[in-house]
This record gives sequence, structure tokens and C-alpha cells, in this order.
Amino acid sequence: MTTVILKKGRDHSVRCRHPWIFSGAVERIEGECQPGETVSVRDSAGEALGLGSISPSSQIVVRMLSFDPSATIDDAFIGDLVRRSIAMRDGVADSGTAPAMRLVNAEADGLPGVVIDRYGEWLVGQFTTAGAEMWKGAIVKAAMGAVPSRGFFERSDADVRRRDGLGESVGTISGDEPPAEIDIREGGCRYLVDVRKGHKTGFYLDQRENRAIVGNLAAGRDVLNVFSYTGGFGVAAMKGGAKSVENVDISSEAMALCRRNFELNGVSGDVAFTERNAFEVLRRMRDSRRSFDLIILDPPKFADSKGRLMGALRGYKDLNLLAMKLLRPGGMLATFSCSGLVTPDIFRKVVQEAALDAGRDMRIVRQLRQAPDHPESLFFPEGLYLKGLLLA
Ligand code: SAH
Repeated sequence: MTTVILKKGRDHSVRCRHPWIFSGAVERIEGECQPGETVSVRDSAGEALGLGSISPSSQIVVRMLSFDPSATIDDAFIGDLVRRSIAMRDGVADSGTAPAMRLVNAEADGLPGVVIDRYGEWLVGQFTTAGAEMWKGAIVKAAMGAVPSRGFFERSDADVRRRDGLGESVGTISGDEPPAEIDIREGGCRYLVDVRKGHKTGFYLDQRENRAIVGNLAAGRDVLNVFSYTGGFGVAAMKGGAKSVENVDISSEAMALCRRNFELNGVSGDVAFTERNAFEVLRRMRDSRRSFDLIILDPPKFADSKGRLMGALRGYKDLNLLAMKLLRPGGMLATFSCSGLVTPDIFRKVVQEAALDAGRDMRIVRQLRQAPDHPESLFFPEGLYLKGLLLA
């Protein structure tokens, strides 16, 4: 087996079960290898530390699959990881009659680069690394065997695949073709999910619990749902008895499905759909002195590299400042960041600065995070990407 030898003093993070080995930590690679192949990882003195998948062209050269150097990485090993992940979801994230939930959450479930989401009878997967690509067959087979499902649709169209030298791969890879829209239930709401063209695998399953929290707070309030996508928070708020909901999103596809999701739930009432840049909309609302009782800010990932971090933080601050200016006395703000590079501490500071500038006293009522079917490995803090604050 090909062996990756680490530089002297660079074995600490592997010993702490961090699953990524960066190219800068590697002294040399002994032997030939194909992308995705399993390699043995050793420290500078030759002690075996574990096994992982190699991605020779990526900055993350190895993604660990086992910290037991004597493990055998084969279809059975990978299949067990998939089955264990699925079993762990039992009772943790049951979403009722048509389960829509994440079944495999990459590093957190020991399967770097692998995401599998379930939308009722359909599974949708994303394989973003050479290792994930290598084990795709075994993963799909294990998932289809563990969950009653009609088909497995692949959505490996994320840009990050390029870092591992992989092209796009989209389509049905097992069973039947999923319908153009899958009708899912979440809490008391129904949503249509477009698994072919929607963001991620079609829906932001990671916000499930936060949508429920917002739904429970919405009664009698005027709600502004900024970065609405297909209406997740907005529908939950209207179902929860909101007086009005205004959805704002720049994408016409997202807004079209957002409208249909409101219709599907029979909540037409006082609902607005504003298809524009959110920053512009918020500034206009501030200038025309609009105000709301409950505001949701769920922007896309602003920071996808360290170089973009400062700009991203300015963006988050501006947004939060604008939103706070629109908030009535006694109003509440649910604000999020899904940038993995923005830690909960940094996010809290940014929101604090926004409140200072807005001249507003705000208290944290709840700390919010990704739903429990998107667990985070104790050894991989980067896995906590979605964090939020409910402020009053
Ligand atoms: N809250 C949603 C998910 C939001 S994802 C849910 O629970 O389902 C982020 C959304 O922001 C996407 O729909 C994207 O189209 C939108 N977006 C990105 N940039 C934007 C901008 N400048 N103004 C308005 N919307 C934007």
C-alpha cells in the first residue's frame, strides 16, 4: 500500500483524530497511487497512524477513513459506516410521515466528501472528493439497502470536485428517476423540492429545527424572510399564524418555487414575494421606515476562502445592522451564517458590532445551529458550519 509520511512534528492533528492532512504536513509519498486510493499514514519515525483516501492534486492530500492502522478499508467497511450513520438518525431527526433528512453528513459520519439526503422515497447524494468517488458504488448500495427507497439521484455538481480533479456527475445512479418535484413534509408544512436544480441536494434540511422555532414565534407578527430561497422560513411563519410575511430572494427560480410552496400550504393571506438583491431591499425599507416584528436573515455562504473572510464579515455586519434598524421594539431577529470559516465566536462579535452601531440593546434568546441530522464530529470543529442567534 502507498504510504504517506508526515513531516516531523506534524502528526499532532492526526493523533487528535482530525480527518484532514494538508499537503504542507507531508514529508514524502512512498509508492504510486491513483486518486481516491487508500493509503497508510505514518509519522516521521514510521509509526502507522491510520488509513485514508488520497487526493494528490488537492491541498487536503489525505482524508482519514480510520485511525486504526490495522483496519481493512473495503466495501464492507464503507457499507458499515453508511448503515451506522443511517441508524444514528433514528429518533434523532424524525420528521414525520415523509421523512426529509440528511442520512450521511461527510466527515461527521466518517465519510469525507459524502453527503446523502433523503426526500421521502428518494435519496440524493453528493460525492465531492476522489475517495468519495472511489467508494460511490458501495455507498449507494448500502444506502439503498438500508432505507426503503425508489431511486438514488446523484448531484455531484459542486465546484469543489474540481480540486480533486473530478468533473460534474449528475443523474440517476440506482433505481427510478425521481419526479421533477418531490413533495416533502416538515412539521406541519409541505414543501416542493427540485432535486435536479435546487441548491445543495434541493432543500436546506439543516434549517429544519430553526424553521420550527420561527414558526412557533410567528403568531400575530409581521415577518420579513430575507434570503427566502423556496420559502422555508416564510411558510413555517405563515403556518404559525404570522400576520404577514414578506419573502426576499434574488433568484427567480427560487422565488417561483417559493410562491408555489405558499399555495401548496394554503397560506395565501398577506404574503409578498420580492425578487431583488436583499441589501438593496433592506436599504430601501430602512429609508421608507418600514418595520417588522420578526426578521430572518439566512444569507448564502459569504466566505468560501480565508481571503474572502474580511469582506464576508463586513457583509454580515451590514446585513445585521440594516435588519436591526427595521426591527420594532420587542421584535426578534433570527440571524445565521453558514460560512464554515466564520466561527460561532466571530459571528457573535460581528452581530454585537452591528447592534452597537444600531444603538440597540439585544439579548441572545437562543443559540441556533444546524439540525441534529447534520452532526458535527467532536474532532472536526469545521463541521459546525451553520450557526445562528435568536435575538430579542
Ligand atoms: N432560508 C432558506 C435558505 C437560504 S439560502 C431556507 O430555509 O430554505 C440563501 C438564498 O440567498 C438563496 O436562495 C439565494 O438565491 C439567495 N441570495 C443570494 N444572494 C442574494 C442577494 N444578494 N440578495 C437576495 N438573495 C440572495
